[in-house]
Amino acid sequence: MKKILIANRGEIAVRIIRACRELGLKTVAVYSQADKHSLHAKLADEAICIGPAESKKSYLNIPAIMAAAEISGADAIHPGYGFLSENAAFADVCRKCEITFIGPTPEQMRDLGEKVAARAVARRAGLPFLPGSNGALPDQETARRTAREIGYPVILKASGGGGGRGMKIVYNDAELEKAYLNCRTEAAAAFGNSEVYLEKYLENPRHVEIQILADKHGNVIHLGERDCSVQRRHQKVIEEAPCPHITPELREKVGGYALSLAREVGYHGAGTVEFLMDDDKNVYFMEMNTRIQVEHPVTEQVTGIDLLQWQIRVAFGEKLPFKQSDIKIKGHSIECRINAEDPKTFAPWPGLINNYSVPGGFGVRVDGFAYHGYTVVPHYDSLVAKLIVHADTREQALAKMESALREYIIDGIRTNIPFHLDVLAHPEFRNSRHSTRFLERAGFVKNKGT
Ligand code: ADP
Repeated sequence: MKKILIANRGEIAVRIIRACRELGLKTVAVYSQADKHSLHAKLADEAICIGPAESKKSYLNIPAIMAAAEISGADAIHPGYGFLSENAAFADVCRKCEITFIGPTPEQMRDLGEKVAARAVARRAGLPFLPGSNGALPDQETARRTAREIGYPVILKASGGGGGRGMKIVYNDAELEKAYLNCRTEAAAAFGNSEVYLEKYLENPRHVEIQILADKHGNVIHLGERDCSVQRRHQKVIEEAPCPHITPELREKVGGYALSLAREVGYHGAGTVEFLMDDDKNVYFMEMNTRIQVEHPVTEQVTGIDLLQWQIRVAFGEKLPFKQSDIKIKGHSIECRINAEDPKTFAPWPGLINNYSVPGGFGVRVDGFAYHGYTVVPHYDSLVAKLIVHADTREQALAKMESALREYIIDGIRTNIPFHLDVLAHPEFRNSRHSTRFLERAGFVKNKGT
């Protein structure tokens, strides 16, 4: 029986363990000292401590993870999302050690991981772009000239940025001067890469992304889109599938772009191609994520395809059994990220959960790792669970989500459940008229979130 080591923690580690069990695979969890009581460490067949709480010394510690793989005799490593999931050097080490990395090759990751490189590939593949600098900006003067040519506002982006970090919106020459230097310095410190580029800033876009799945035999399909326009500081909070504004024709068009990008690099594995969409439904390529994403369950719900299982199966060389025409979008699915945080200030709120009861019923799914008596630790992100619903229509999905949120009991810590209920009640969201600036404009978030 094959053995998979999960180089991650939290809800995604639990999700991977579940997929492995269903596939008849053995699992090895790795955990930091702070995660001794984490559900992933309890559920896996084996669990190995890889270091102290600090991520750098545990979940980002490649030698410690490879030692755990060696000791346990793991055949493959699943990196989850975040941590080492988009680290090409880690995928390289796995290859050298003859351990299957569940994801694309290091070369594919290098082609698509950094934003400037990915834009060059996307250009070759014929994807549409927002006007901007063709590549990295060599100096301030080029930045100013490009910004003037395309017109303010523009957004400066760090090539190595991610998770909503490394971006700055700029409204005029004076701001650009400061922002260019700051952005470079910050990018060098945070991502080890000082490359920045700029593009036109869209005032009220929607975030639309296409899920793809590709095997090692040249088959690549897309599984439709997710709308992730409810964001705080460029980070997703609520996601849904399908996007209410996308017609089947537009889905084929945008899906086709995603397939072209994947084919351009011979991609295999699960991946997501992200776009912005303007009021006239023009779409523009933003970036590609070469891993499974937090919000993958909404796609699973509407397509009936277990993305995690297929991600693992294609990594082991299986052929995808479906064609593009087999993929049908059924009903509507919404996901709310349940965070341990104050619902008004969004300050993290770790601590002991002294009462825990999850909602249930037809079309309700909880992907989480919290349990009664678990202490949420302060060292990592504040996501404790994802609440996902699926119903025939968006309206019914909204009603189901509201009911499920009210049923959810998490006592002892603060969570953003009250925030989700307020967002759900807001007419702009209910009528799907919201853009990525919605939380800011509707007063849910105070700062401008650049
Ligand atoms: P990250 O890698 O940090 O997730 P992305 O490039 O995916 O960064 O962008 C994240 C979010 O930032 C988008 O969903 C959108 O809200 C905002 N954003 C990025 N580029 C633009 C743009 N050109 N105009 C308006 N908003 C943008």
